[in-house]
Amino acid sequence: MLELIDVAKHYGTTPALSPARLTIAGGRTTVLIGPSGCGKSTLLRLIAGLVEADQGTIRVDGEVLTPVNINNMRHRMGYVIQEGGLFPHLTVQRNVDLMARYLGWSATRIEARTAELAELVQLQPSLLRRFPAELSGGQRQRVSLMRALMLDPELLLLDEPLGALDPIIRYELQQELRAIFARLTKTVVMVTHDIAEAAFFGHTLVLMRDGRIIQQGSVRDLARSPAEPFVEQFINAQREPARQLGEALS
Ligand code: ADP
Ligand code: MG
Repeated sequence: MLELIDVAKHYGTTPALSPARLTIAGGRTTVLIGPSGCGKSTLLRLIAGLVEADQGTIRVDGEVLTPVNINNMRHRMGYVIQEGGLFPHLTVQRNVDLMARYLGWSATRIEARTAELAELVQLQPSLLRRFPAELSGGQRQRVSLMRALMLDPELLLLDEPLGALDPIIRYELQQELRAIFARLTKTVVMVTHDIAEAAFFGHTLVLMRDGRIIQQGSVRDLARSPAEPFVEQFINAQREPARQLGEALS
C-alpha cells in the first residue's frame, strides 16, 4: 500500500502538486489521469523519489520515504518513464540488467531472470543484443517494462507507457499489459490522459487538474457522481469522438 499525506511540490512559483492526500491500494492498478501539465508525472516522480517533496510524507507499505532510505526503497519500485528512458549506448540486455549487475547478481541469475521476463513481455530473445534505436516503439516499451520488472519490485510506476504507440500496437500492448498485471498482482500506478485506457486498466482512477486531486473512484463513480463540472467535461471531451465513430459505423 502507498500513502501520500499532504505531499506538495512547487517548481519556482508553479505548484506542480498542491498538498495532496492519497491512498493507493496494494496489488491493484490505480490510474492517474488528467490534462497535460496537471501534475501526474510529478506525483509519480515523488513516489519514485526522483524529486523531493516540499512538504508531506510518503509511505510505502508503512515505511516513510526519506533521502536516506530512498536508494533501497527504489529497488522495490520499477519505473517506466514517459519516453521509455532506455540508454541508447547500451544494448537491450545491458539496459535490462543494469541494476541487477550493479547489485552483484550472478551471470546465471541474470540470464534466467532475463529469459523469464522476455517470455513474460513476449520479446524475441534475439533482440536482446540490439540497441534501443534498432527496435520498434512497441518493442522498446516491452524492454522498458522488462527493465522495470527486473528486480521483481512490489510497486510498478508507469508514466504513459503506451502514449507514443500507434493504435494497433497500443491495443495489443494494452491487452498484454493488463494480463501481465493480473498475473503478477503487483501494485501498479499508471499515468495516462486517455479515459478509455484508464477505464480499461484502472481499478481506481485518480483524476487531477492543476496540481490538485479532483476525484478518486471507479470510472463509473466519476461518470455518475462527478465531484466538479470539470470531471464531466473531461469524460465527455473524450467520449464524443468515440460516440461519433460509433454512429458513423452503425
Ligand atoms: P503532467 O505529467 O500531468 O503532464 P507534470 O507533472 O509533468 O504534468 O507537470 C506539472 C507542472 O509542473 C507543469 O506546470 C510543468 O510545467 C511543471 N514542471 C514539471 N516538471 C518541472 C521541472 N523540472 N521544472 C519546472 N517545472 C516543472
Ligand atoms: Mg507527464
